[in-house]
Amino acid sequence: MSDLYARESRSVSKMAHLRFFPQAVVGGSGAYLTGDDGRQLLDFAASWGAVSLGHSHPAVREAVNRALSDQAGASYLSTANESCVLLAEKLLSLVPERARGRVWFGHSGSDANETVARMVVAATGRPRILAFSGAYHGGTVGSMAVSGHPAQQGARAEGLTLVPYPNSYAAGSPEAAKDTALAHLERLFATEVPPEEVAAFFIEPIQSDGGMLVPPDGYFKAVEGLCRKHGILLVSDEVKVGLGRSGRFNAFEHSGIEPDIVVFGKGLGGGLPISAVVGPEAIMNHAVAFSLQTVHGNPVCAAAALAVLRAIEHDHLVENAERTGTVLRKALDRLAARQTLIGNVRGRGLALGVELVTDRVSREPAARQTALTVYRAFQLGLVLYYVGVRSNVLEFTPPLTLTESQAQEGVAILDQALADVAAARV
Ligand code: PLP
Repeated sequence: MSDLYARESRSVSKMAHLRFFPQAVVGGSGAYLTGDDGRQLLDFAASWGAVSLGHSHPAVREAVNRALSDQAGASYLSTANESCVLLAEKLLSLVPERARGRVWFGHSGSDANETVARMVVAATGRPRILAFSGAYHGGTVGSMAVSGHPAQQGARAEGLTLVPYPNSYAAGSPEAAKDTALAHLERLFATEVPPEEVAAFFIEPIQSDGGMLVPPDGYFKAVEGLCRKHGILLVSDEVKVGLGRSGRFNAFEHSGIEPDIVVFGKGLGGGLPISAVVGPEAIMNHAVAFSLQTVHGNPVCAAAALAVLRAIEHDHLVENAERTGTVLRKALDRLAARQTLIGNVRGRGLALGVELVTDRVSREPAARQTALTVYRAFQLGLVLYYVGVRSNVLEFTPPLTLTESQAQEGVAILDQALADVAAARV
């Protein structure tokens, strides 16, 4: 361990970024990263879901190389490029009919959500926005303005109202979580927040950074009903859990809803920076005025995104996320039977979370043990990260190409890491 800290002080510490591990990576292939000491690390984080096809995927490499030689000089701003046109057509075919208008491209989930936040208020003339407590929609001022994660206090928009995300584990059952969350929303509309003043409701179809919360059956269907009744635009932030990760192409499909606006990011570029907003023409036309960025619609990133979408389809990666996610989930459930730090295992497909508690009855968050587990797993060869409003949820967002044996390999390492932390060997 002391060696690793020595390495950190020499090199990695010069980076002004959040990082969990004191080591630089020099390469990667599929679900594995290669550390600068030659160690192979199994990557259950995939750069927080961005490296959707795994590291150095041949299809992404080839598309990027071709785009660099063919289109490096192609214009992004005043003329469109072919990759973006094709990508826009493809994305329009992947969203519900009501969202099939136009597409805006950005660089990150943050700029996409910021664009939506500004657009919906301008398009509807309504000043208010709803989002969830614990929601992470980005790190720019405009996306933090519509977020509810504790890390983003102080940046919230005046017109933002946060509502609780239904938490089945905390509430004791999915039904109780659903009833409480819906009652809160209905009370809000009857008292503090006139629904006719609300432009949009930003939803996370699974609340990932807030703790990998899976909505109870029927909850989002009821939310959709309320939105339709009051003319509120439903915005699905698919940045982290969309594009196949949940075991369906769009994560909102699990809830049987049809959002008006869909936001894509992270995995779209397979690791390259590109995001997209897809929505009705009358709303999307407002994006032009707000979100002019010099290199958005970059043909190299768009080519990578086309390769990602093609691979998801041709290699049946949505099905793989569902199948391998089930294997991973079952292995984590078995771990929970032995490891008393585990309070709850949840998620969908390859978007999974494990909540750690100091005591299964009081459910006190085990934040310190969570951080130690992540670090111990890294020492043992597994890259993980943690999320949650109380920083006690291990998050799993591995590449969609993860195999069943890699899933088992990662859980075996996690098993050892949890045992070492529980026995205070770290
Ligand atoms: N939306 C969700 C649901 C996210 O999880 C994130 C990032 O974690 C973002 C938006 C912001 O995306 P980015 O970090 O690419 O700006």
